[in-house]
Amino acid sequence: MSKLIKVVRREQCIGCLQCMLACARQWEKLISVEKAALSVDMYPGAEGSFSIRLCYGCLEPDCAEACPVQALLPRTGGGVTLNPSLCIHCGKCVSACVPTALMWDQEKKQPIPCKHCGVCAFYCPNQVLELQEQDHD
Ligand code: SF4
Ligand code: SF4
Repeated sequence: MSKLIKVVRREQCIGCLQCMLACARQWEKLISVEKAALSVDMYPGAEGSFSIRLCYGCLEPDCAEACPVQALLPRTGGGVTLNPSLCIHCGKCVSACVPTALMWDQEKKQPIPCKHCGVCAFYCPNQVLELQEQDHD
C-alpha cells in the first residue's frame, strides 16, 4: 500500500516553515527553505492565513508527461521521481503542474519532487499535514 502526504488541517497552519526545513534537512542535508519539496506562503492581504502547496500525487502526472527526456517518471502510488543525470534543466515540468505544486531548485536548475516520506508532517507542530495510506498502488 502506498502513502501520500496530504494537507488535512490547513486552517491550523501558523506559517512556521518547520515542514519545509524538515524536508530540506532530510533530503538535501541543508537548512534552507529553498530546497524543500513543498511551499508555505502567506495569502496576500490575509494575515495569519497560509497557502500550502505540495505534490498532489497525480497518477498520471502532467509534469512527467511534459519532460522531454524522461528525467521525471511517474512514481508508484502517485507523484514522480527524478533522475537528475537526465535532466536538461528546461523547466517544462514546473510549468506543466497546474496547481504549481512542483518546486524548483534555483541552484541546481531542476525540480524538487516530493518523496511523500512524511518528514514534513512529523515536524509540523499543528498536525496540518498527514501521510495517508492510498487505496491504490
Ligand atoms: S527541468 Fe528536467 S525534469 Fe523538468 S521537464 Fe526539463 S528535463 Fe524534465
Ligand atoms: S510545519 Fe505545519 S504549521 Fe508550520 S508552516 Fe508547515 S504546515 Fe504550517
